Amino acid sequence: RTVYVNGEYLPETEAKVSIFDRAFLMADGVYEVTSVLGGKLIDFDGHARRLQRSLGELEMQSPVTTEELLEIHRELVRVNEVDEGMIYLQITRGAPDDRDFVFPDPETTAPTIVLFTQSKPGLADSPKAKEGMKVISIEDQRWSRRDIKTVQLLYPSMGKMMAKKAGKDDAWMVEDGSVTEGTSNNAYIVKGDTIVTRGLSNDILHGITRAAVLRFAEEAQMKVEERPFTIEEAQGADEAFITSASTFVMPVVEIDGVALGDGTPGPRAARLREIYLEESRKTAI
Ligand code: PMP
Repeated sequence: RTVYVNGEYLPETEAKVSIFDRAFLMADGVYEVTSVLGGKLIDFDGHARRLQRSLGELEMQSPVTTEELLEIHRELVRVNEVDEGMIYLQITRGAPDDRDFVFPDPETTAPTIVLFTQSKPGLADSPKAKEGMKVISIEDQRWSRRDIKTVQLLYPSMGKMMAKKAGKDDAWMVEDGSVTEGTSNNAYIVKGDTIVTRGLSNDILHGITRAAVLRFAEEAQMKVEERPFTIEEAQGADEAFITSASTFVMPVVEIDGVALGDGTPGPRAARLREIYLEESRKTAI
């Protein structure tokens, strides 16, 4: 696999980052994951915009322009012959000479930028979409700026492990009695023809897939209600699902051991997944 590191395309075994890199020592970095379908990028503009926002919130500079970023994404897809999969992008505050809590001077410490591809043949046709996911609920113990897409992923990683140990697929996080989001996705319930999902704030990541799916709700003859919901309300809902760039729309069929409806994926989540994939393929670049 060819990867991109600070201006160079290299075999993955030759790519190097300093041990003083701020992301390695302090999780001082931001990232994006863009999916690839048919060799094309889904929602690139949305991911590029959110990246700029994350960087801005952390007073970080981007080492490349959005045009250059697009070019790097396309080149990696090309050389690695990615048909379906993802591109991971990370920008960090770089590697100062020593470890220090204070941000290094951007004049002397350049940011680090790394991109690599992950081929996932069959991503759009995932069997999980037909089976549905089982989730557990856990307390949301992350920091309070979840709107910034940082590489501080230890708690989400622990959440996935809690789910795995319980024999389930993922965890939904709960704060002050209501669901914030999944460990790496946004969370939704469906009641009748209404999609309910938490509104945008610093409590959750502003999902690029979320924005697209809410735009397509009308096409699916559904209404949208942006408000918090509890695990109890979710357990009594007709359907539930999650969204993310790597899973698109994925049905949830069980929450804390309680099956939703008959325990199989519902028609509305399936329809939204269909529309999302169809529309995304049309606008892919
Ligand atoms: N919430 C969290 C916590 C996430 O990590 C992600 C995906 N990285 C999402 C939501 C979904 O965001 P997107 O649709 O942009 O992938």
